[in-house]
Amino acid sequence: MSFLDKYAEEFKKYDSVENDFIDDDKIWGQLEKWSKPSKSDVRRVLDKAANKIRLEPEEMAVLIQNQDSETINEMYALANKLKREIYGDRIVFFAPLYISNKCVNKCKYCGFRSENNEIERRTLTMDEISEEVSIMIGEGQKRTVLVYGESPETNIDFMCDSIKQVYKTKNGNGEIRRANINCAPLSREELVKLKEVGIGTYQVFQETYHHKTYREMHPEGTIKGNYRWRLYAQDRALDVGLDDVAIGALFGLYDWRFELMGLLYHTIHMEEKYNGVGPHTISFPRIEPAIGTPYVSNLKYAVSDEEFKKLVAILRLSVPYTGMILTAREKPEVRREVIPLGVSQIDAGSRIGVGGYRKSEANMLPDKEQFQLGDTRSLDDVIKETCGMDSLPSFCTACYRAGRTGEHFMEVAKNSFVHNFCMPNAILTMKEYLLDFASEDTREAGEKAISKYLGMMKEDRVKQYVVEAIGRLEKGERDIRL
Ligand code: SF4
Ligand code: SF4
Repeated sequence: MSFLDKYAEEFKKYDSVENDFIDDDKIWGQLEKWSKPSKSDVRRVLDKAANKIRLEPEEMAVLIQNQDSETINEMYALANKLKREIYGDRIVFFAPLYISNKCVNKCKYCGFRSENNEIERRTLTMDEISEEVSIMIGEGQKRTVLVYGESPETNIDFMCDSIKQVYKTKNGNGEIRRANINCAPLSREELVKLKEVGIGTYQVFQETYHHKTYREMHPEGTIKGNYRWRLYAQDRALDVGLDDVAIGALFGLYDWRFELMGLLYHTIHMEEKYNGVGPHTISFPRIEPAIGTPYVSNLKYAVSDEEFKKLVAILRLSVPYTGMILTAREKPEVRREVIPLGVSQIDAGSRIGVGGYRKSEANMLPDKEQFQLGDTRSLDDVIKETCGMDSLPSFCTACYRAGRTGEHFMEVAKNSFVHNFCMPNAILTMKEYLLDFASEDTREAGEKAISKYLGMMKEDRVKQYVVEAIGRLEKGERDIRL
């Protein structure tokens, strides 16, 4: 059986379904219905959002269509408040690890598409994975997301081996404690294997929820050409108990307003079908230039910085308990503005070329990259800046290792207990970072931030535990968590 045929039987099941949960006409109808919301329409929705209740599509449509600067500012202020109330002031850090840029698909917007002859193709060997991971660990990373194209060379067994390789690589006091996966949609049998090997989050981004645009971007006859195979990727994961899943859209392929509604419908579908378990995180990358990819240089639906800010805030207001990831695709100045609007995770010190960490002095490897990064600063620099932004950097990986995923996580998150875990764990993992990896300036900024947030903690058993744990870390113990 050829690689392209391997899912043929499964595809038939999805093709026979009459409708999926994205109804393009209905979405446009809702956006049109609220094309000119009044201030009081917007404030009515904000009142609901302030209670940390997931919004309904028509309510999201009201926020999307709002053009009034006064109430847009109210949206920004509330998005910031919700993020702080639910997650505390912590920002979790991670970095991607590109394992392979070989791909059988032909997505028009991607530098890795099979027809692009302008990039050099390669897949890391197990030894090379260890080398890359060792460098990442040496910079202070604790969380990664492994990125693969879709190719016979990086099949499920290869993926499982690569994940094991990441976890077994150590460097001094450091290690990767959580490896998330960004890969193609998989079958249930394959997902069982991923679960057994101990991944963190399984990420599959729909790219665009708009059916017609999806068909245009992903040619028929490719695996990715099957919209529903991709749309139900998270369902299959949840069906086999892999309950930590993520969704996303690539902004710039179609109208951002539609894509936001698509992300919300996807969340609602999961919550309704899986006992309240929605996506663990949502990503909202904007398309970036990529070598040998002319499609991206003239985008009809390019999202401006102002629209981007607005869409991030609307997501925060609409799905209050879902983590939101902002990547280093964005330039530092955009990140500074957008992070306070509800972002809970960012990457820093990232290299997106295959083998990019070993070539870090070059920073970019355009001949092996999928797109171009906007923020190429070092992890240390971004950590230092974050400490001065009323936020506390965190390398926490505690929930997934303590079994707080899926329903358990939602239970904890919805009871607003997450900051009881998030902030203490941010303090402890940040302390580890400062002891093992930080430059002198960053250590100074980080110690100040730790003192500030320690001072803000209630005088209770948790605080006592954290103070004692800091002492244990200073004496050489590592990986203390709640
Ligand atoms: Fe392959 Fe993903 Fe790029 Fe499409 S977007 S060509 S599936 S790597
Ligand atoms: Fe994430 Fe849980 Fe750690 Fe909070 S405590 S940062 S939710 S892993």
